[in-house]
Amino acid sequence: MKKILSRNEIKKEYKWSIEDLFKSDELWQKVYDETEASFAKMDKYRENLDADSLYDCLKLRDNISLNTQQLYVYANLRANEDSTDTFYQELSGKADRLITLYSQAVSFIEPAILAMDREALKDRLDKDLKEYAHYIEDILRSSEHILSADKEKILAQAYEAAQGPSNIFYMLNNADIKFKNAVDSNGDEHLLTHGTYSSCLESRDRTLRRSAFNNIYDSYYAQKNTLAAIYSASVKMDLFNARVRNHASVLDSMLFVGNIPTEVYHRLIETVNAHLPLMHRYMRLRKKILGLDDMDMYDIYTPIVKNTDTRKTYDEAKKTVLEALKPLGEEYCAKLNKALNDEGWVDIYENEGKRSGAYSWGAYGCHPFVSLNYDDTVNSMFTLAHEMGHAMHSYYTWSNQPVIYGDYTIFVAEVASTVNEALLMQHLLKITTDLNERKYLLNYFMEQFRGTLFRQTMFAEFELETHAMAERGETLTFENMCRIYSALNGKYYGTAVNNNEKISWEWSRIPHFYTAFYVYQYATGYSAAITLSEKILNENGAQDYIRFLKGGSSQYSIDLLKKAGVDMTQSAPVEKAMKVFEGILDEMEKLSE
Ligand SMILES: [Zn+2]
Repeated sequence: MKKILSRNEIKKEYKWSIEDLFKSDELWQKVYDETEASFAKMDKYRENLDADSLYDCLKLRDNISLNTQQLYVYANLRANEDSTDTFYQELSGKADRLITLYSQAVSFIEPAILAMDREALKDRLDKDLKEYAHYIEDILRSSEHILSADKEKILAQAYEAAQGPSNIFYMLNNADIKFKNAVDSNGDEHLLTHGTYSSCLESRDRTLRRSAFNNIYDSYYAQKNTLAAIYSASVKMDLFNARVRNHASVLDSMLFVGNIPTEVYHRLIETVNAHLPLMHRYMRLRKKILGLDDMDMYDIYTPIVKNTDTRKTYDEAKKTVLEALKPLGEEYCAKLNKALNDEGWVDIYENEGKRSGAYSWGAYGCHPFVSLNYDDTVNSMFTLAHEMGHAMHSYYTWSNQPVIYGDYTIFVAEVASTVNEALLMQHLLKITTDLNERKYLLNYFMEQFRGTLFRQTMFAEFELETHAMAERGETLTFENMCRIYSALNGKYYGTAVNNNEKISWEWSRIPHFYTAFYVYQYATGYSAAITLSEKILNENGAQDYIRFLKGGSSQYSIDLLKKAGVDMTQSAPVEKAMKVFEGILDEMEKLSE
């Protein structure tokens, strides 16, 4: 087994340069003290914020939020480098405290904006408050859903109790529920946890897959009445919140936050449904390649193509990714080249105590940082492309937007990362000559479509039905939720797969269902990204796309995407994505004849 190096043993050129954020820990402490002291400057606005003083107040907030963000990111990135380093654990604890103090110091601003004289405020939106106009309009948009002060006070007091269902589910799912060990075809036992479940399902050993599947679901079934009661309470809470704030439905209330039209949600479901025959074809192909007479739900995740043994050193991966992203234009590639080679954005290899899982993060005013655990596989090359997509999105946003619009919303969060992955995929498919590698890539791509576009839309459809039932005053029992889920599962996977009774219990173990109407964004984001990558490759869409990257949160997500040529209120983006899926499927079928 490869020995994991300690952080000190890793060469400097393989590590990121966090000192670009703060040159030293001493400097960090100095800025920390200054920032904490600066919070008091907010006090002078607290009692009498009006349209006249708003600009100065928001500017001040921008400054202290910038420092707070940088302090927070530095402390946490340092702590992530090596969790055994207690000094940085302490620093990150301090940073947590600073964030809390910051939120308290500025929490009065948005309620004050809502309470301001509307005419006086609107009058200045194209004058001194121009930079903040979108931000302010977004706050004012919610005014018809804000209640009187005493009602808001009661709701605020009930907030913690309202978190009950999701907290209870979290405890049950992460602390109390236990799974029997899974057993493989040799009779050997495998520890079954949330973490090991997916690797069991990916195993080539069907006995192990079946055993893991059965044991997981049997544990949930043993808690069926409790799980139904928790989810039902969560849906009722969603309904309460929507009604008390005068929204037409729970869907309206949830999409209101990002100003996403509800037709986006319906169009997604409608369009994916129209293309389910493609999913059924994929399942028939899978069954054929696996050589099964009867395929079951525990056969869905095992790879149908032998893992490619192509190895890519980090240097080779960098070159390949840069080559693949050339269609994004010279400027993008020149910056990416610098980021990868000269500017210390990336922390490449695993070390003792380093946080696992790749991510991109950072703070306005500095360059982004990317953490990888690069291991020479094709998979980790895709991860590199993915995380650099996030990082370049942040880079473009921070270089073109003021602090207030320096982030991007969940709705578009995975667009830039997926565009990069799709461009890398198309590039690799163009250059690869090895047949097994080609099949591996095609299958990798098909699995993304299945997991992100089809599966998340199926989840979205389930949520729509359960909330509609609650809205009609019907009771959500274990049985009727299983009935809904089973029907959806059968519809999505088709007749090539046995619609195992146990899969109808799957809804009861999905944590995301406790944040209603959230997961559809994975499917819409994926469709938008595939459409954009096609436009970049075939319709000179790079410039429009770069403009989207520069937009941050300066406009509503739907409008930003529209300007890049992707209208998520229409079915076209999902249809385009499905066309790409069909192309891969056609080829994979041909290669498997
Ligand atoms: Zn991502």
